[in-house]
Amino acid sequence: MKVTEHIKKSKGKTLFSFEIIPPQKGQNIQELYNNINPLMEFKPPFIDVTTSREEYIYIEKQGLLDRKITRMRPGTVGICASLKYKYNVDAIPHVLCGGFTKEETEYVLIDCHYLGLDNVMALRGDAMKHEKYFSVAEGGHQYASELVSQIQNLNKGKYLHEIIETPYNSDFCIGVAGYPEKHMESPSLESDLRRLKEKVDTGADYVVTQMFFDNKKYFNFVEKARNIGITVPIIPGIKPIAVKRHLQILPQIFKLDLPESLIKEVENCSNNQQVRQVGIEWAIQQSKELIEQGVPVLHFYSMGKSDNIKAIASAVF
Ligand code: FAD
Repeated sequence: MKVTEHIKKSKGKTLFSFEIIPPQKGQNIQELYNNINPLMEFKPPFIDVTTSREEYIYIEKQGLLDRKITRMRPGTVGICASLKYKYNVDAIPHVLCGGFTKEETEYVLIDCHYLGLDNVMALRGDAMKHEKYFSVAEGGHQYASELVSQIQNLNKGKYLHEIIETPYNSDFCIGVAGYPEKHMESPSLESDLRRLKEKVDTGADYVVTQMFFDNKKYFNFVEKARNIGITVPIIPGIKPIAVKRHLQILPQIFKLDLPESLIKEVENCSNNQQVRQVGIEWAIQQSKELIEQGVPVLHFYSMGKSDNIKAIASAVF
């Protein structure tokens, strides 16, 4: 079922969902299930599965380093299929512009359609690890809005190089990313919101936000989005702080601000177990206020560990 249908069906009750990251190559999928199992009692209508960018590795060959390209966490679409049929849940693959030609994207989408996946999340992807800026793959898309356009075309039977008239077209519901503290490359929040509107006008059905730790940022973002005519659901993304290093890493990677009182609470912790507890309590307070304000879904970034998400969900659902 489409995310937008789940939201309609819930009649104003806030839903629970979360995002997972595929395991590293060579791992057993059972570990992933072990992390998901404790969260299923909160009846997530959908689970997102990220896609990771490819990266370079260097292999020594006769004294020389040979540069090869590899993907450390492949398997997004396969994992989505396994979750859908194991848990009877809608699993949402993240589809990226970065690292994929339009043709490769078309084949990924066809796989998703055959597997009965009703939703896809359309993202540009970040720059590769060695790159300072995102660079478009040869024959790929520069911006997520172009990817949304490709998916919408496919929904109408317009393949890249053929138009196929058939009643069996895909009908993907499309999610896109939004940034309450603006995307790091954007000159301003207003400019970024205009870009978000382009994605929605091109056919995105809902927005999932980047993590934020101050609900005011989310409320402000939603208000500004509504003021420029973005009417689709805007799902808040929540990440509980889990280790002290997050104080540096999260602002560095995602270019977001942490509230002063959260920073102080984390700094006062003497070990990461205490930090984890602070993160849980902070996310519970955030979640309660967001539910009070009637958000459609609370979407948690699980980063492969579910004990803290379970503690938060137990307190608020
Ligand atoms: P876009 O919407 O294309 O925007 C990128 C930048 O370009 C923005 O600054 C925007 O303002 C600007 N822009 C857009 N259109 C134009 C235009 N026409 N002209 C000029 N500027 C423009 N990354 C992954 O690698 N894998 C994942 O699975 C993944 N999942 C994510 C899930 C969520 C909910 C979120 C919020 C992010 C996720 N990301 C993921 C990260 C995302 O790929 C990065 O934040 C990326 O840098 C931007 O992606 P986007 O889809 O928002 O890009």
